[in-house]
Amino acid sequence: MMGMSKLTVIGFDADDTLWQNEKFFRLTEAGFTNLLSEYSTYSNLREVLLQTERINLKRYGFGIKGFVLSMIETAIDVTEGRIPAAVIQQILDLGKELQNHPIELMPGVGDVVEAVARKHTVVLITKGDLLDQERKLAQSGLGSMFDGVEIVSDKTPDVYERTFREHGDGPEKAMMVGNSVKSDVVPALQSGSWAALVPHDLTWELEHAEIPEQHPRFRKMTCLGDLPDLIERLPAS
Ligand SMILES: [Mg+2]
Repeated sequence: MMGMSKLTVIGFDADDTLWQNEKFFRLTEAGFTNLLSEYSTYSNLREVLLQTERINLKRYGFGIKGFVLSMIETAIDVTEGRIPAAVIQQILDLGKELQNHPIELMPGVGDVVEAVARKHTVVLITKGDLLDQERKLAQSGLGSMFDGVEIVSDKTPDVYERTFREHGDGPEKAMMVGNSVKSDVVPALQSGSWAALVPHDLTWELEHAEIPEQHPRFRKMTCLGDLPDLIERLPAS
């Protein structure tokens, strides 16, 4: 088995791992704070919006639709109901713009997924709006490289356990790769799989968590290009 990875399935996060996502949300948020600048300060708007999103996540889940509803709710809140319908229309337009934004792949991702897929089953595991994630995957041109695509409402240890069992030999022989400690690393480790963090300089506040540096099945990369080597160098169990 020299040179053979003991892992059979590799899970890839999508947003901010394979393609840019957070930076477009930040641009939309900047547009939103501009629209509301006569009603409230930038920092207060950001704070109320984040708090509203945190509460709404449980109701609407992740993605653009929930984000738009949270912007509208924040606008009503900070203006105490005085927000003109024309401004709500502009918020809706910001959301549509975000949804129509062309995909921007991270450098070299096609080569990395292709290299990993030569020896492993590769599965895309992402959360967010179903339609929006399908659109991005189709635009990315990466779709045919993946053996499976799982668009889930949240990334829990159960989701990883089920996905890695369905597509491979269970979590013990699987690795999750992504930019979010909270969604890609911690629950994957809890399911019993390996997890590789590929940090992105923009990561949403609600995706932050403490990095489990000392965990034996945790690895940290500087970029996604390190992944094929990292998998090869894993210790045999
Ligand atoms: Mg991500």
